[in-house]
Amino acid sequence: MEFSIRTSKSRDLVDITGEVEKAVSKAGIKDGICLVHVPHATAGIIVNEFEPNIKCDYEAMFERLFPPSDYRHNMIDDNAQAHLKSAFVGPGVSLPVGGGRLELGTWQRLILCEFDGPRERRVIVKVVGK
Ligand code: ZN
Repeated sequence: MEFSIRTSKSRDLVDITGEVEKAVSKAGIKDGICLVHVPHATAGIIVNEFEPNIKCDYEAMFERLFPPSDYRHNMIDDNAQAHLKSAFVGPGVSLPVGGGRLELGTWQRLILCEFDGPRERRVIVKVVGK
C-alpha cells in the first residue's frame, strides 16, 4: 500500500509513524517486516526522536553537513543540497513487526525528511510475514 504526504515548506520534517502503523494494522500480519520507502531523490526517512527542539537540531545538522556551495548539479536544477541530504539519509527503512505492531523503541518515530518542497510525497509501505 501507499499514502501521500503534502509537505508545507522547502525543508520539512513530518512524523509519519501513525500512517505507517495503520498500514501495518491493515496488513493483518502479526510477525514480520515492514519496509517503508519514499520513491524520491530529494526526500528521505529517518527513525529517531521527534519533538520541536530536536527537529530544529536535525535541520541545523543538515545545513552544517551540506552548506550552500557551487555544487555541479546546481547547473541542472539548483537542488544539489537536497539530493546530497537525501543520499545521506537514505530513501527508507525496514522495521520489525511483532504482535501486529511496529517494534519501535519508546522514543523512535518514523520521520519523512523533505529537502526540496513543498511537494506531494509518496510513501510506499510493504508488510510481509505471517
Ligand atoms: Zn536535481
